[in-house]
Amino acid sequence: MKKIILLGPPGAGKGTQAAKIKEEFGLPHISTGDIFRANIKARTPLGILALRYIDKGRLVPDEVTIEIVRDAIRNLDSFMLDGFPRTLAQAEALESISDVDAVVNIHVDSAKLMKRLTGRRVCASCKATYHVDMLDGGDACECGGELIHRDDDKPETVEKRLAVYEAQTRPLIEFYTARGKLINIDGDAPVERVFADIAAALRQLS
Ligand code: AMP
Repeated sequence: MKKIILLGPPGAGKGTQAAKIKEEFGLPHISTGDIFRANIKARTPLGILALRYIDKGRLVPDEVTIEIVRDAIRNLDSFMLDGFPRTLAQAEALESISDVDAVVNIHVDSAKLMKRLTGRRVCASCKATYHVDMLDGGDACECGGELIHRDDDKPETVEKRLAVYEAQTRPLIEFYTARGKLINIDGDAPVERVFADIAAALRQLS
């Protein structure tokens, strides 16, 4: 049974690694970004509210986001949080909801993040991600789904998201280091290498 957090700037590869961790360790994957996008697509009140922030590269307010996560993990004895917490207030609230075993911090140089994010294409169907440089002009996923350029992966929004990360999310590295929970992973390596490092660290958790 494990309760873990995937931490890292936008574009560090959290979503890609989360899919692999889920497959290997069977941990339920809770992505606040995916929850917001599903609500935006279904035009729910939550989606309409979230869109106003996401479109501008800003964070959805803490009160809203914390309640979503509280609900999502209520009955789970293991989970992997991806994209939450993103602020100190969220991290503090999470401490009163659940005890996490480890925080996997995937770090990548910020110049590389800009290139990764603005060139990112996501499958509308299975959520697999690609980079335009690897697509060779193709526009379909291996699963046959359509590849889309997320609105918030456009350059102006990416800049804002990276600035928000620096100001609001980076302080969590210190927060979790102080609690002895942080595991640092070099995210500037091939996907399989990054995964091998994460998997080795997770196997060491009791
Ligand atoms: P992601 O797919 O994790 O990059 O999330 C996409 C967008 O959803 C972010 O840029 C935020 O606007 C919003 N979002 C996701 N997770 C959170 C969170 N924990 N707190 C506030 N906003 C969030």
